[in-house]
Amino acid sequence: MSEEVNPFESLQSQIDGAAAHMDVGEDVLERLKHPERVLETNLTVEMDDGSLDRFRAFRSQFNGDRGPYKGGIRYHPDVTRDEVKALSGWMVYKCATVGIPYGGGKGGIVIDPDDYSEAELERITRAFAKELRPLIGEDRDIPAPDVNTGQREMNWIKDTYETLENTTAPGVVTGKAPDSGGSAGRVEATGRSTVIAAREAFDYLDTDLEGATVAVQGYGNAGWIAAKLIDEMGATVVAASDSSGGIYSDDGFDPVAAKDHKNETGSVVGFEGADEEITNEELLTLDVDLLIPAALENAIDEGIAGDVRADVISEAANGPITPAADEVLAGKDVLVIPDILANAGGVTVSYFEWVQNRQRFYWTEERVNEELEAIVVDAFDALIDTYEEHGLDTLRTAAYVVAIRRVVDAFEQGGSWP
Ligand code: NAD
Repeated sequence: MSEEVNPFESLQSQIDGAAAHMDVGEDVLERLKHPERVLETNLTVEMDDGSLDRFRAFRSQFNGDRGPYKGGIRYHPDVTRDEVKALSGWMVYKCATVGIPYGGGKGGIVIDPDDYSEAELERITRAFAKELRPLIGEDRDIPAPDVNTGQREMNWIKDTYETLENTTAPGVVTGKAPDSGGSAGRVEATGRSTVIAAREAFDYLDTDLEGATVAVQGYGNAGWIAAKLIDEMGATVVAASDSSGGIYSDDGFDPVAAKDHKNETGSVVGFEGADEEITNEELLTLDVDLLIPAALENAIDEGIAGDVRADVISEAANGPITPAADEVLAGKDVLVIPDILANAGGVTVSYFEWVQNRQRFYWTEERVNEELEAIVVDAFDALIDTYEEHGLDTLRTAAYVVAIRRVVDAFEQGGSWP
């Protein structure tokens, strides 16, 4: 993974790249490239042994022109202020790409959650929720899960918020457990949009998904669901990896059994259903039809991009390809489905969850999946139209052109104040 690329600079260069094809003033562009505000806080929390520990935490509210700030909370030792700012900006353009009425936000705590007990993680999460309370709310800013957080953390944040506010407000966070107001289909949504977008891309290229070979980097929520669903569509998952390494089988393996192995042992490595072990770098450069990066940002830098042999990349992760790598891949005619479309299923079903919370009326999983499918297919078609109409070099640029237009329109219709 490239160390030098600052994700916030990547975001800004992606916006500049798209703006070059648009009529947007420099002054408005400045607004589009910077967060409106960033909370930086230090959480002091009691550990199980009675000692105190300090945790840096952030929440960036990037842009609220199209609706409440929306975005996940990540627990990872490498979280930085710039990473959180970039991720919050990607949320703005992601929500605009798929046309859901949200702005963008993102948060994170600098922590390796494996080092703490469940009771400690609960106190840390509640301490963060207390700091977030003035900023968040069903109509203000709505957090969600991200790397190393899930239903459990969302349930804690919701409970803390509701207790402090003396109300019920299930829509203050999304990604909750179903009994706490979560939506059917939310856990699968990110992997689902990743593979729906890939299916549309294969269709656009007039290539068969049936029998296509697939490699998945990162076997967490987004990656493993994408593997399972693409296998169900008839493709063959030949490789998967996590932070401990990867596995490969020429003729594919059962993605569900690989996940069971990871659940039991902590990693896909050692899974008996695969023929051999490979490194993450080897996985990214396999000769496959579809590559799904589903780990962290900057996984594919310029050097690795030169060796990529996949025909299509569907970005389940946020920012897995650096801007320099994007250029290399475009030069090799690799069709990259950008993160702000490919993984938008997560925020889209979060939006459905929030709608259900506000209406106190819950949908079937079938309805959730049908509505998601329609949104991803429409968004993909809009990208292709813009890509072809403007003769753009990448689908990413097309996505930013579509999304920036929508954010600018909302801003200009509202005007600035005071
Ligand atoms: P997760 O914590 O469930 O899984 C992350 C996976 O990546 C794990 O298997 C981990 O071992 C692996 N990993 C970490 N570092 C790695 C490395 N250096 N090399 C290879 N594998 C590595 O997280 P997730 O929710 O699946 O999120 C993954 C990506 O998808 C992130 O970029 C996240 O922002 C993005 N995303 C997730 C959602 C969602 O709904 N979960 C929505 C949109 C985007």
